Amino acid sequence: MSNFINDTARPEIFNLKTYVPGKPIEEVKRELGLDDIIKMASNENPLGGAPKAIKAISENLDKLHIYPDSNCYNLKSKLVLATGISEPGILVGNGSDELFRLISETFLNKGDEVIFAQPTFAEYEFAATIMGAKCVVVPVIDFKHDLKAMLAAINEKTKLLYICNPNNPTGSIVSGEEIKDFMDQIPDHVLVIFDEAYYEYVENASYQSGLSYVLEGRNAIVLRTFSKIYGLAALRVGYALTTPEIASAIQRVTEPFNVNMMAQIGATAAIDDKEHVAKSQKLNAQGKKYLYSEFTKMGLQYIETDANFIFVDTGRDCREVFNQLLRQGVIIRTGDIFGYPTFIRVTIGTMEDNQRFITSLKHVLKG
Ligand SMILES: *Cc1c(COP(=O)(O)O)cnc(C)c1O
Repeated sequence: MSNFINDTARPEIFNLKTYVPGKPIEEVKRELGLDDIIKMASNENPLGGAPKAIKAISENLDKLHIYPDSNCYNLKSKLVLATGISEPGILVGNGSDELFRLISETFLNKGDEVIFAQPTFAEYEFAATIMGAKCVVVPVIDFKHDLKAMLAAINEKTKLLYICNPNNPTGSIVSGEEIKDFMDQIPDHVLVIFDEAYYEYVENASYQSGLSYVLEGRNAIVLRTFSKIYGLAALRVGYALTTPEIASAIQRVTEPFNVNMMAQIGATAAIDDKEHVAKSQKLNAQGKKYLYSEFTKMGLQYIETDANFIFVDTGRDCREVFNQLLRQGVIIRTGDIFGYPTFIRVTIGTMEDNQRFITSLKHVLKG
């Protein structure tokens, strides 16, 4: 049997690393017999889904027997208004995750090169490796993208270059000015992908979206998602903003009904939920301040964040910290999977979550 797989499956699949998701609450309940658990591991919105999305979905449950709109017309119409990108330049995916995959399937041949930072979001490597492309990783400096080194890594084989801005797991950004300087030097054969999953959380005034480069007609894609500030991670909706030429190429490899009906209805309603977005931004800014000040009091180094999570150095083996926090019902993410064995990544929660996390962390670090 194993010979059959070895002889028959594409060799690329054996190079894939397994994605390590945030530990689900139900799993911790089962494994540890705990009841009262908070998950601060997957950068989900602690306020829940946008109420307008929940209402719209509940009003449309009688339509489950009908196929969804393969063109996502209503959602795209809202996105045109929200972003200024015209409809032929917009793609909607089953989460941004699907869009990384579709971009790879559209552009990558075996041996092509893809550049991204280390550490950054794991999906870039997954989507490149599955196509047999070569991943060129550029370590961050001071926990930020090293744009100079990324430019220097470009050669004639380079096809894609990812900028995760803000970056996951560090929370750091590259400024609009740094990106401008960088884009001035990017050759035309390289497609730059700006992953802006945490765009709505950014507070730093020097930040600028990559959208202006799309509007200029550069070879660029901006990716955003409904999974984070809109609180709709379960629905799986992400979108790409790019030029009509790039979008129509990617459209060729897209399944006809890739975004389900409830996802489309929820996301379309969520865009209008300005109140939920504003509340979420405010809560995140408050929580960030609180956690910064507690980390400082505890003498822990943290990376300044423009997202809804903080990368913090516990000075201890992160697996140990993770397991002990887990026993107190607090789920966080370990830094070892990103190459930082003493760091943890914690999602900013409600004030109550944040306080409980800090109390538990103090307890763990004292022990
Ligand atoms: C969470 C996240 C996404 C969003 O993924 P979805 O598939 O849309 O849920 C994309 N990029 C980064 C960096 C993320 O952290």
